[in-house]
Amino acid sequence: MAFDSLTEKLQNVFKNLRSKGSLTESDVKAALKEVKMALLEADVNFKVVKNFIKTVQERAIGQDVMNSLTPGQMVIKIVNDELVNLMGDETTEISLKPGSEITVILMCGLQGAGKTTTTAKLAGKFKQKGKKPLLVACDIYRPAAIEQLQVNGEKQGVPVFSMGSGHKPLNIAKAAIEHAEKNGFNIVILDTAGRLHIDEDMMTELVEIKENIDVHQSILVVDAMTGQDAVNVAEMFNNKIGIDGVILTKLDGDTRGGAALSIRAVTGRPILYVGMGEKLSDLEQFHPDRMASRILGMGDVLSLIEKAEATIDEEKAEALGKKIKKAEFDFNDFLDAMEQMRNMGGLSSILSMLPGVGLPSDIEIDDNAFKGVEAIIFSMTKEERSNPAILNPSRKKRIATGAGVDISEVNRLVKQMEQMKKMMKQMPGMMKGKGKKGRFR
Ligand code: GDP
Repeated sequence: MAFDSLTEKLQNVFKNLRSKGSLTESDVKAALKEVKMALLEADVNFKVVKNFIKTVQERAIGQDVMNSLTPGQMVIKIVNDELVNLMGDETTEISLKPGSEITVILMCGLQGAGKTTTTAKLAGKFKQKGKKPLLVACDIYRPAAIEQLQVNGEKQGVPVFSMGSGHKPLNIAKAAIEHAEKNGFNIVILDTAGRLHIDEDMMTELVEIKENIDVHQSILVVDAMTGQDAVNVAEMFNNKIGIDGVILTKLDGDTRGGAALSIRAVTGRPILYVGMGEKLSDLEQFHPDRMASRILGMGDVLSLIEKAEATIDEEKAEALGKKIKKAEFDFNDFLDAMEQMRNMGGLSSILSMLPGVGLPSDIEIDDNAFKGVEAIIFSMTKEERSNPAILNPSRKKRIATGAGVDISEVNRLVKQMEQMKKMMKQMPGMMKGKGKKGRFR
């Protein structure tokens, strides 16, 4: 995960700070020197780091902090506040035109940044919010890009407007807006062509579109894995065509995270969303405060909850809740629950968002460990899954052979199920009054 190494280093600095009852000016300076090194190693822009440390130091060496009962905590709080400030203070929503007016969004970026994928992801977000988005294939140089947009659009249930590769992008955009007006779409998202590097032709094409149609938002897609290059690209696009915000992709990868911390400070433009994987659901709104908590290893419980709300199948979850209340939970439900967890990105993704869990970078959680459990359940007959009480020794032996495991593992799983049921029988009193939405609030 991004930031792992930065988080680990910051946590060490903070551990030292917390362990001291009182802090001297040189304690704070020494700690901030380490914070500075950690940020630079995470590939945060040099000037950004310099300013950041200066601001934190001025605040941290103030009288209030040094004389407080918990100076270490106060310094950590200041670092947190300033990290939030650096990334933009508040969550920025993509601005949309009011009422039924059509909002035109121009998506731009270098080739390979993830623009086409992100465009489809974004369309999905708008659809979820009850909007009617139309995707427009303006990349006429790469036929594969048109096809990729069509495939992804279909997966998202969002129509794609295309005129093939024989027309100018500006004319395609104009025709798409007309099509949107006639067919009741209220958001038009233009997927423009990228190039391997910043080049004049690409910029001219984008400027031509912006000069001739009413583009409401220009959004740049950049790849977090490219570190400071991403920041430079953002600066150049902003200078040449003017951008309203940035979507940072591939933050799920092994990036050091510097781009996330520098873009806003360098360009003055906010990060709107972050790409967290290749799946079309892997796009998260960017919240500076939550990102700061995540970087400091304080977890990101709110994003986790939102992810659960977006990916958990409400109907199944509700049915499951009812079964749990009645202690009717069986192995079929167990499979369902595991499926839901997988949809949320697996156990390691869930754990990384929990406070205090901050997984060290060298520990990998093996989500495949659940496969063994699944294999056992898959080797059961339908009847056995819904009524584990009938699992006698000969049935268990057959299941173990089918799943390729030792019979003791089958016994253990069956025992766990019995214990869970026992626990559920004792739970109804605790679960009273929890409404559907109340689960997560
Ligand atoms: P484009 O050339 O900018 O349109 O880039 P594409 O949309 O074709 O994406 C390039 C590659 O990056 C594809 O393999 C995508 O699946 C992948 N990709 C895009 N966004 C993300 C992300 O957030 N995380 C990861 N891991 N991969 C991504």
